[in-house]
Amino acid sequence: MWWHDKSMSDAEQFFRPEINSLPTYGAGKNSSDPQIIKVASNEMPFPTLAQVQAALAGALGGLNVYPDASAACPIEEIAHFHSVSPQRIAVSNGSVAAIEKILSAVCTQGSEVIMPWRSFEAYPITIQLAGAVAKPVALRADGNNDLRAMLGAITPRTRAVLICTPNNPTSAALTHSEVRDFIARVPGNIPVLLDEAYVDFVEMDDPVRGIELTEQFPNLIDLRTFSKAYSLAGIRCGYMIASEDVIATIRKAATPFEVNALAQVAARSALQSRSEVERRVSIIKRERTNLQNALHALGWEIPTPQGNFVWFNFGVHSSLFAQICLEHGIIVRPFEAEGVRVTIGEPEAQLRLLRALAEFRSRTETD
Ligand SMILES: *Cc1c(COP(=O)(O)O)cnc(C)c1O
Repeated sequence: MWWHDKSMSDAEQFFRPEINSLPTYGAGKNSSDPQIIKVASNEMPFPTLAQVQAALAGALGGLNVYPDASAACPIEEIAHFHSVSPQRIAVSNGSVAAIEKILSAVCTQGSEVIMPWRSFEAYPITIQLAGAVAKPVALRADGNNDLRAMLGAITPRTRAVLICTPNNPTSAALTHSEVRDFIARVPGNIPVLLDEAYVDFVEMDDPVRGIELTEQFPNLIDLRTFSKAYSLAGIRCGYMIASEDVIATIRKAATPFEVNALAQVAARSALQSRSEVERRVSIIKRERTNLQNALHALGWEIPTPQGNFVWFNFGVHSSLFAQICLEHGIIVRPFEAEGVRVTIGEPEAQLRLLRALAEFRSRTETD
């Protein structure tokens, strides 16, 4: 058949070109060896919250029916927790699905989406999937989103701007005034997606108060997740807070029954276990401080971490360092020729990290 392009496989011919060229999401590696600790995916080192486990057990028998399409239970609990109207909240199958949905709803072919880079790997994929072109803006030297440069990158084709704070993978966080001044300068017809996946771990002066900003700026969508602080990465639940108008439209565009029955139960129960969540977060923060002090004493300089992870700017030595870490029993997350992200885990993981760093230093110094 004359229209059959032999230089492409059949599958390649039926997908849009930007789908064929999608980058592959590099999930953190797993190991079947129980001696090895995985600190590659920013997961919490604690098991599912006990109250959540009990609630899930109680829901297991009812999976023959569809979940509540409006997800009223978790939404009411989230609304109560943040003291906002339930009409300003929508839930999703993880916050990545929310980003995907929003971008596919606002972009058309040739739209531009501004994103910080290096940042969350899901951004370029969701942007490309929406038919848009990613406009990466390099981070500031301190590892933060360069908001000034991002403002400068806005063109008439810009359809959305992504902000990540604390930024994954550098763990640097912006201040409230920085983010507020930025949004105030973004034209009101361009939505700003504020990804606050790690908001619970922030400990700094003038931390971002995302929800307050959504009250001031109708073009702001604040994104949250149960995957990190709530120790629920496996259940897939996230949510967004925005104006009632924006949320009403997002709800219309949602996949019917997107948030499954177990995820709805788990999300509500996790919020009701907030004191235990806070206890866990404070353990991680304490471990983070201890690690920072140890690193400082040994002469390692890293951006002040505000997430449950740290960033080592090891450039071309990143894969070597990841290899040395594996030899010391931890799986970390290298980003080719850029750096290595290490999740704060159980204390033993941090001890192994320090040993790996010592060996890395001696090996790179003698090279
Ligand atoms: C982990 C993470 C998320 C959470 O994604 P889920 O789909 O909710 O698991 C969102 N944004 C960033 C930057 C992350 O690192």
